[in-house]
Amino acid sequence: MQDVRDKIISETLKNIKIDFTKRLHDANTFEIYQGISKTLLGYFAENWTKSNELYRKNRRVYYFSAEFLMGRSLGNSLVNLGLQEDVEGLLKDIGINYNEVEEAEADGGLGNGGLGRLASCFLDSMATLNLPGQGYGIRYKNGIFKQEIENGFQKEYPVNWIKYKIAWSIPKFSEEVIVEFTDMEVRAIPYDTPIIGYKTDNINTLRLWEAHPLEDLNIEAFNDQKYDEAVKCRNRVKDISRILYPNDSTSEGKKLRLRQQYFFVSASLQDIIRNFKKYNGGDFNNFSKYIAIQLNDTHPVVAIPELMRLLMDMEKLSWEESFKICNEVFSYTNHTILAEASEKWWVDFYKELIPRVYEIIVEMDKKWRGKLLELFPNDEGRRKDMVLIKDNMIQMAHMAIYTCHTVNGVAKLHSELLKYRELKNWAEIYPEKFQNKTNGITPRRWVAVSNKPLTKLINRLIGKKWIIHSEELKRLEEYGEHIDVLRRFLEIKNEKKKELGDFIRKTTGIEVNTDSIFDVQVKRIHEYKRQTLNILYILDLYFRLKEGKIREYYPTTFIFAGKAAPGYFRAKGIIKLINEVARIVNNDKDVNDKIKVVFIPDFKVSSGEKIYPAADVSVQISTAGKEASGTGNMKFMMNGAITLGTFDGANVEIVEEAGRENEYIFGLTVEEITTLEKEGYNPKEYYENVEGLKRAMDALVDGTLNDENSGMFKELYTSILEGADWHKPDQYFVLGDFQEFRTIRDKLNNDYRDKIEWAKKAWLNICNSGKFSSDRTIHDYAKEIWKIEPKRV
Ligand SMILES: *Cc1c(COP(=O)(O)O)cnc(C)c1O
Repeated sequence: MQDVRDKIISETLKNIKIDFTKRLHDANTFEIYQGISKTLLGYFAENWTKSNELYRKNRRVYYFSAEFLMGRSLGNSLVNLGLQEDVEGLLKDIGINYNEVEEAEADGGLGNGGLGRLASCFLDSMATLNLPGQGYGIRYKNGIFKQEIENGFQKEYPVNWIKYKIAWSIPKFSEEVIVEFTDMEVRAIPYDTPIIGYKTDNINTLRLWEAHPLEDLNIEAFNDQKYDEAVKCRNRVKDISRILYPNDSTSEGKKLRLRQQYFFVSASLQDIIRNFKKYNGGDFNNFSKYIAIQLNDTHPVVAIPELMRLLMDMEKLSWEESFKICNEVFSYTNHTILAEASEKWWVDFYKELIPRVYEIIVEMDKKWRGKLLELFPNDEGRRKDMVLIKDNMIQMAHMAIYTCHTVNGVAKLHSELLKYRELKNWAEIYPEKFQNKTNGITPRRWVAVSNKPLTKLINRLIGKKWIIHSEELKRLEEYGEHIDVLRRFLEIKNEKKKELGDFIRKTTGIEVNTDSIFDVQVKRIHEYKRQTLNILYILDLYFRLKEGKIREYYPTTFIFAGKAAPGYFRAKGIIKLINEVARIVNNDKDVNDKIKVVFIPDFKVSSGEKIYPAADVSVQISTAGKEASGTGNMKFMMNGAITLGTFDGANVEIVEEAGRENEYIFGLTVEEITTLEKEGYNPKEYYENVEGLKRAMDALVDGTLNDENSGMFKELYTSILEGADWHKPDQYFVLGDFQEFRTIRDKLNNDYRDKIEWAKKAWLNICNSGKFSSDRTIHDYAKEIWKIEPKRV
């Protein structure tokens, strides 16, 4: 080990000299970060090469995703390589604070939220399980925007992450491919990021494509001295990988977005076929023996007609042969049943940009309509519901279900809703296609990296096996009554709260009580996630405290964080509302020793790593049936927070695993909501009759709260009580769930007084969180969908 240690230091010093012409004492933390990162790359380069060589000879899976929310690489890589403590010690010896070096790295933010983070957790698990698998996506220059809060309002700023990420993203110019649109040819240049498994020599790959013009400048335009024209052309191509669309759970049918989807999917398929020919003999009868492709939501579904095109036009296969291959190769994950999320493309865009692909889709649709007519000659309604092209819109989910061998939902409840409600017609024809794969999170990043004291405690009690065998966490149950262990757990929670308290002070200037309950709702801001329900409770609580109606309330810090899509006016109104309630509460001497409200700006993976471990309460209160799974809920659970939630998504399974008595579950169920919808739901009834609700709602419009004439609060108020944008009033049943939410919240607050009882429940959450490791999820995908086997270098 001494050998490795000496080498790490000398290599790092050398790298800093080469890249920055500096000696250590002159280098800043970012330069040191780059130096170490480059050293590590050298450290595992041989294993990375070997892994690539091994995987391409075997059956493998390609994970197609328009988003990967990677976060930082250095700390995670060090933990997975088993070098973290060594490097921390080495740096300390030469007077450098490891944490500061870690903080110098910018997040890889090429995703919006849960869907992109899931893809990243999956890559970590594939590498850790030694599974031949590779991610494919887009190397956006500008990932998710940086959020700042100005005067309580969200402001968006572009981040050019590429500037910072050089070390972990390596160009492979010799492996470029060309992607063609009617109006442009695009050079797709791959950049590879190593995915380091935990305690294995295998190194997997994430390959991201960057768009470049074929020629550096349009020669004709250049020679004509039309420089503006020449530059414009160049830029139009580069635009393809310039920016990530910042919408979470809504689809925007923009041309550039279609270009992005087709660009990365076509480049990836060409790359796959090239490697298949080079390393697997090139007989397309064997293609599906080697290749599995998972489509992360509908964003990459254009891969289906594109593979048809490549097989028919380039490889001269017949329609039937090509379609059979597509069916054997592709599987599709559905991530949501929100109507506004389902992707539909205007046929004109396809015709205009990729006419041959369009032609193939039309042919597919025609064949499928024929089949439907055979199956349901007397049921036009059903046939219409299932076509691939409807009212001149291409239904991406339909194309996926029609073609793929497997369709999966992301939590039990969600998969059931797909099978028996949303996609009932499809499941009746293809029952064998439908599966469930409950989401998961990697215990490496979300515990071992981000909660080192908890990791140490667990290691001391049951050893380290749990980090890759999460079911081992069950063995912690034995300590569920050990007072010393529970006290240590509470101590760790408190350490983490102190760290988060420092971070909150730094980022917001607000001073929080680290002995208070840390009650946390962090996730994208969206109506269905119901941050409004939470804030209405806090408003009502504030008024009750002011009136002296509550004798005792255990001090609580209500913590929010999350980004709103820049075009989602109402979600931005919710952010302003949270900040406005925070301003009132935090500045009121009557209550601010009891409650505080904090909005942490710019929620991202690296801030999540500080937030999840510090939480006592995990707020997961989406309208039942709307959150497909959630993964934040799992990160909290594994760090010993108790879920305050509805029967929705993976909450249902969290309750199943940990026991209902160890969570706070409330609210309307899917069935109850269906009934209410049928019988007619009237939020005004609740507004008039639930004590305190009118007062809390009215605070939005009676001058108590100030939205600086933006109209945001009135709009929010109206959408709940009157309805807006052709939606029924309160489509997410906020008022319908208010009373139960208040009751259970008040109970929770009182229960917290018995700290040891609380700690026991929190501990049982950790013990029973093993199911939610993404290792379990990926193991099941590998076995039941991809049919791939581990291969070790
Ligand atoms: C886990 C995670 C999410 C998903 O959170 P949900 O509560 O499941 O919506 C979103 N953003 C980031 C940065 C995350 O780490």
